[in-house]
Amino acid sequence: MERIGAHSHIRGLGLDDRLEPRTNSQGMVGQAKARKAAGMILKMVQEGRIAGRAMLFAGPPSTGKTAIALGMAQTLGPDVPFTMIAASEVFSLSMSKTEALTQSLRRSIGVRIKEETELIEGEVVEMQIDRSLTGATKTGKLTIKTTDMETVYDLGTKMIDALSKEKVTAGDVISIDKTSGKVSKLGRSFARSRDYDAMGADTRFVQCPEGEVQKRKEVVHTVSLHEIDVINSRTQGFLALFAGDTGEIKPELRDQINTKVAEWREEGKAEIIPGVCVPLPYAVQGTIVKLTTVTLFTQVLFIDEVHMLDIECFSFLNRALENELSPLVIMASNRGMARIRGTKFRSPHGLPVDLLDRVLIVSTQPYTPEEIQEIIKIRCEEEDVNLADNALQVLTTMAAQTTLRYALNLISCGQVIARKRRSERVEVEDLRRAYVYFMDEKRSVQWLKEQQGTLMF
Ligand code: ATP
Repeated sequence: MERIGAHSHIRGLGLDDRLEPRTNSQGMVGQAKARKAAGMILKMVQEGRIAGRAMLFAGPPSTGKTAIALGMAQTLGPDVPFTMIAASEVFSLSMSKTEALTQSLRRSIGVRIKEETELIEGEVVEMQIDRSLTGATKTGKLTIKTTDMETVYDLGTKMIDALSKEKVTAGDVISIDKTSGKVSKLGRSFARSRDYDAMGADTRFVQCPEGEVQKRKEVVHTVSLHEIDVINSRTQGFLALFAGDTGEIKPELRDQINTKVAEWREEGKAEIIPGVCVPLPYAVQGTIVKLTTVTLFTQVLFIDEVHMLDIECFSFLNRALENELSPLVIMASNRGMARIRGTKFRSPHGLPVDLLDRVLIVSTQPYTPEEIQEIIKIRCEEEDVNLADNALQVLTTMAAQTTLRYALNLISCGQVIARKRRSERVEVEDLRRAYVYFMDEKRSVQWLKEQQGTLMF
């Protein structure tokens, strides 16, 4: 079964080479000014001229703020992890607000490490797994006959597993079945004879016999500063990175890493290039010794519903933006004048004026009926729903009277109802029934008023 996300139809900003918005392109319709502004910001990101800046998408609900931010992410490239958080995620019991923000900011700074690696047959990537990283009782040295880093990671975790279960000892020549993860020991002569080539694509793990190293090749890994923090954190270890449960990182450790990065830069091994990067899951400890160049990339941090942050977070962000390693911070809010959380003051979009003063504000406007109709059509195609022409008209009118998001939600509800009467085509009647089953926000408020006294408050 394929799950279709609310924004899965967005494939870019739909701009031409001159950054002019096309009417209907890459899943994007209308909102021309905001899309163009987003395109200009991206150009600055790509040219490396935007570190330490922030922008704010401000506009009514379901006017495409999140969609445009995702379009920006897509334009940066399919592999660029656009760090995306909702402001409310910052509030948790497991870590402080500023720690959560720091982690998000550091997730948005990529570090590209170029290292020289010894290779056999020009195609092999070597990875050493250190017991201090894995908690395993033994260490192993692996050579993986692939340059695909995803496979390296995948097989690497299987190796860690094998080591921790003490199935193999250092010096053993092993193969790991790519699908089942089963570890088999091979005779040492096996590797020498290079028969492992005949083992096929599923068994790619073989220990590299020393002396057979013939070539050197530069290998590039990209990780985020946050990943380096976690990997080097004694309490966490690199597996925590993949479990996602990283907890708080000690400030001293971050200081050490910042100092190290500064050293790399002074030695000419590192450079800071604001722009795009393609992080891969990879353990850097152990390989870093051989590094030749480190490139730091500032990326993009998107904070949705930014009015949910409080005054302490805003003040922290304000300072963080001044750091030369700060990523581009994109915020979105659908609030007008709102109270700044943690104070009794009201301010536009619930943001303090000193922060507002430094952000580029881009507004989004309500859609015209024609634009709404196009968006509905795109969603029907995305969700593989056949909508009758008159049903499309009705849904467009519904969207104008309720919200675009409500109308988009009715597409799949209508399909379920149509299927119940064994039809693959959604007709007006199906939408009517969906409209009766599910209330929009206005009707819900009306209903609440009518129910006064019966519900708990
Ligand atoms: P909120 O303030 O409530 O968070 P928002 O402004 O972030 O709303 P979105 O979530 O981006 O609104 O938009 C609502 C839905 O409409 C999403 O499914 C989105 O992909 C789609 N959509 C919005 N604008 C466009 C557009 N210009 N082109 C295509 N799809 C759009």
